[in-house]
Amino acid sequence: MEEGGQVNIEDFKEFNHKNIIDICNKSDSALFAYFQDIGILPKTRTCVCGSEMRHKVRPGRADAWRCKTKNCAKEIGYFKNTFFSNSNLDPREIFEFTYLTCLAEVIFFSSCHQDMDLLM
Ligand SMILES: [Zn+2]
Repeated sequence: MEEGGQVNIEDFKEFNHKNIIDICNKSDSALFAYFQDIGILPKTRTCVCGSEMRHKVRPGRADAWRCKTKNCAKEIGYFKNTFFSNSNLDPREIFEFTYLTCLAEVIFFSSCHQDMDLLM
């Protein structure tokens, strides 16, 4: 099951490709904060031991969540069980690909509507 907050579709009403470029140019920390704000990444994680986990930046390796309890110190992948799990792509690429896929759907369905109008 994916974890994260609630995504509000109204946030994307005025969204366009310029926004995608701005988002993709963000640093990792700014990007992850943005994804947390719009609800596609969790802001906090709870360890299997019940303790809170913190975001750990690991130079040269992928980010992780690490348990704050020293005796446990369990780590899980930063994107585990999120929209971005099960992919080796950069989250920027996944976000852009998702945007373009949605855009293609919108164009397809609006052209369907135009075709329907012509038939009426
Ligand atoms: Zn723990």
